[in-house]
Amino acid sequence: MAESPTIQGRCLCGDVRFEVCGPLLPLGYCHCKSCQRASGSAFAANAAVRTSDVIWRGGQEQITEYASSPGKRRAFCSRCGSPVYACVERQPDWLSIRLGSLDDDPCVRPGAHFNVAERAHWYPLTDGLPQHSGDHADAVEASAENPLPHGNLGDAFPAELPEELATDLASIAHTRIERIISRGHRSATDFWYDQDEDEFVLLVRGAARLELEGGDELALGPGDWVHIPAHVRHRVAWTDTEQDTLWLAVFASPTHR
Ligand SMILES: [Zn+2]
Ligand SMILES: [Zn+2]
Repeated sequence: MAESPTIQGRCLCGDVRFEVCGPLLPLGYCHCKSCQRASGSAFAANAAVRTSDVIWRGGQEQITEYASSPGKRRAFCSRCGSPVYACVERQPDWLSIRLGSLDDDPCVRPGAHFNVAERAHWYPLTDGLPQHSGDHADAVEASAENPLPHGNLGDAFPAELPEELATDLASIAHTRIERIISRGHRSATDFWYDQDEDEFVLLVRGAARLELEGGDELALGPGDWVHIPAHVRHRVAWTDTEQDTLWLAVFASPTHR
């Protein structure tokens, strides 16, 4: 298990100081009206971090928490007003850190825009990242359960469907698509995939467990998918020995034509 580099962060006045000593999971840009008001700008740039991975180095008593909506608290420095973190009651083990408070490059990049229905129309979105109408708190929840965006093709079927429904699961360009069949195969002990490419993989049938560096495991059954960003180290911990496991993998890299 590789060590995550420690990243320092602080508020504007420097009274509130902290270190992040675990992985930062990029949540994306939140365009909700509350984030606009709290930041005084078009959006908030967030990353999720485990509460236990944040070490407070000063000014903790100076932090005021404001309940901006039921179950959601936004923390800021009482002296300078800088937003420090946000948290939701249903995910007590996770904090949403404002990327702007970090001293160093966190080496993660927000991968999507959230709550775009409320976005500030004076700021054009031209970066090509996926745009979601939903809330980033849902992403915190998803990240907290497993640190990668994932879902099931059978999820969230509307009761009524007057028109065909198309949902972006992942937005990627320069793609390579693979079919993979596993028959009880697993990665060698201590082997980790460390790919230059983003990978979107859908388990079509069978069963598997994916191990992520840091110890988390993702159990996958039919219809489950996961988006593994480039250089997120992972290995196949187990595939079913009783039946073939069929995968559909989409790899994306700028070097592919
Ligand atoms: Zn401050
Ligand atoms: Zn927001």
